[in-house]
Amino acid sequence: MPLDLLAIAAHPDDVELSCGGTLIKMKKRGYRIGILDLTRGEAGTRGSAAIRLREAQAAARVLGVDYRGNLGLPDARLDVNETNKRAVAEKIRELEPHAVILPYWEGRHPDHYNAARLAYEGCFLAGLKRLRGLRGQPFRPSKVLYATLYDANVRPTFVVDISAEYEQRRQAILCYASQFRPKTRTQTRVPLPLDQLETRMELLARYFGQMIGVPYGEPFLVKEMIQVDDVVRMSVRSF
Ligand SMILES: [Zn+2]
Repeated sequence: MPLDLLAIAAHPDDVELSCGGTLIKMKKRGYRIGILDLTRGEAGTRGSAAIRLREAQAAARVLGVDYRGNLGLPDARLDVNETNKRAVAEKIRELEPHAVILPYWEGRHPDHYNAARLAYEGCFLAGLKRLRGLRGQPFRPSKVLYATLYDANVRPTFVVDISAEYEQRRQAILCYASQFRPKTRTQTRVPLPLDQLETRMELLARYFGQMIGVPYGEPFLVKEMIQVDDVVRMSVRSF
């Protein structure tokens, strides 16, 4: 059965942190939702690939998504090459997502901006009818959204109200104990310990929520114009 929405990101936990609330919200609407992690995050300072995979599955259960897969591409060396593009393209053909959420195309971490390009080009390849050696039937998603929450300097095209989903999203993020909850004394100096993560998570979601007059929000960017049919009943008040 085809997916309605597929979120693709570089590392397990990127999706939860950037668009977890939106995935929960769309699931509540009855859509079929999926997550595709491109790497297992094995190059991270904390947690092994196996631990992170277990955490990702636990988080998927909290989010309530229908599918979560991992392409197992090399973490920290996520190159935009033919092999990797084809791996993404075959997955797109298999899952047939109507819309995809990709990471914003710029960022501090090379894996994040590479993931954006790799996923975009993979989606494009998936639709080519005459591409040799690519498994599955030609298919291309009809909409690409970019999750911009990692970069507060980006002005989003729209913000999704995730106030009702915020707590559930928080629980999903907390599944990544190896990343945010150092167990031993030697591990206490992690770059982003749990208390800081929670503060930052809360601050960003509140900041973007404020932009649309609600408690919590997740921002997105689309490259195309947004069509409006009713200019009388538009959401977000001016006064
Ligand atoms: Zn990441």
